[in-house]
Amino acid sequence: QRDRRHVLRLLETRLPRRIRQLLDDLAQVAEVEGVNIYAVGGFVRDLLLGVANLDVDVVVEGNAIAFAEALQRQCDCRVRPHEKFVTAVVIFPDGYKLDLASTRTEYYLQPGALPLVEQASLKLDLYRRDFTINTLALALNGPRQGELTDYFGAQRDLHDKALRVLHNLSFVEDPTRMLRAVRFEQRLGFTLGQHTAHLLRSAVQMGFLQRVSASRVLHELVLLLGEPQPGRALARLVELGLLDAISEELRFDDSLQQHFVQAGRAINWYELLPEVAPLEHWPVYFLCLLADLKTTAVERLCQRLGMPQRYRRLFVEQRHEAWPQYHQLERLGQRVEQLCGSELARLLDGLPVELLLLGMARTRHQPVRLAFSRYVTGLRCLRPMLDGRDLQRLGCPAGPLLGTLLRQLRDARLDGQVHTREEELAWVRVQLATRELTKEER
Ligand code: ATP
Repeated sequence: QRDRRHVLRLLETRLPRRIRQLLDDLAQVAEVEGVNIYAVGGFVRDLLLGVANLDVDVVVEGNAIAFAEALQRQCDCRVRPHEKFVTAVVIFPDGYKLDLASTRTEYYLQPGALPLVEQASLKLDLYRRDFTINTLALALNGPRQGELTDYFGAQRDLHDKALRVLHNLSFVEDPTRMLRAVRFEQRLGFTLGQHTAHLLRSAVQMGFLQRVSASRVLHELVLLLGEPQPGRALARLVELGLLDAISEELRFDDSLQQHFVQAGRAINWYELLPEVAPLEHWPVYFLCLLADLKTTAVERLCQRLGMPQRYRRLFVEQRHEAWPQYHQLERLGQRVEQLCGSELARLLDGLPVELLLLGMARTRHQPVRLAFSRYVTGLRCLRPMLDGRDLQRLGCPAGPLLGTLLRQLRDARLDGQVHTREEELAWVRVQLATRELTKEER
């Protein structure tokens, strides 16, 4: 009873109103439908740890799709059912998504394959989870509302800050759990239990991770690199032999650790700039991880990981194109400060922001770092105020000259020769009056 009151108080005090309201709605629908529902997994773990987590996963003792449809009749939301797994995603008008699952158990046909699903009890449902700390179920409705179901010692392990699997075959059934272990260890500051550490090392030695589909490994790697301090997690992957298991081409040492730290600083700096587009962090760290790998090796790695095309382009082609520009800036060293805006823009134009941040992170020369920041903060988005139509109105014929003048006008702005619209107009008039046209421009 005391525990129950404590948990109800946590729900009351630690959750934003939006989530409290959602839990109330869910409880009401569950009462009407006569089913028991539970919040499970990371949400309950983080509630007890005092960590913010708005990702509510709900398990329905019964059919989750039928429950989702009942919820839809009650609230303004859309339902995306997944018949095969008897799960549903409920999407609310503000974009918030809620995952609903039926109590279920899973059978693995072979290590690393996707599981088969069968309806089962709550206990069996919780048994299929990765670590004990993720096996708590919190009753959301009825007289047991607020009660924690703890079949596998989750509260003890939360208290001991220990990560433990539920059974000896856990890493064999799903080897991606090894990567999840490193992620939770680092994020929560937990340690692998002794037996779990032993099981993990055996699974690494037996090469189980290599049996997992590329996309699942990539998914976990992306999550890991998206954590606040991925450098520490990478060092741990090395220690456990997991980085080698992902790819023998990859290495991670003290100097890369430094690049990771610098990349973190560059990302923080970038995100504090006004009006920048949202940035995915993991590609910047992945670029760091590629270090000095040759383009062909990166291509092989992307192939092996099933990297989606958009990222492959960044890691292979665009990275390849960035290399000479990095080298040129490094060669200039101190003299980089003397580059005028248009010269710097000529070097860095076209590089995506991830590669600009990588450039900042990798260099050991402060003037080079400053050159990148000068480009990102000012020059990168600087465009003339006049456009093609304005130039035509001033008498410039449509054709190659128009393009050349617009480019040169941008250079003039980058170099601080013109600042206002009037100055741009004057600059164009002078060009049109005095300039000797080349053959192509005529
Ligand atoms: P995060 O805060 O990173 O989202 P989470 O614990 O909520 O952590 P999810 O990846 O959202 O993790 O997964 C939700 C729940 O599903 C987890 O709490 C875990 O119990 C379970 N789960 C996810 N992946 C696995 C897996 N590979 N094996 C077993 N259980 C898993």
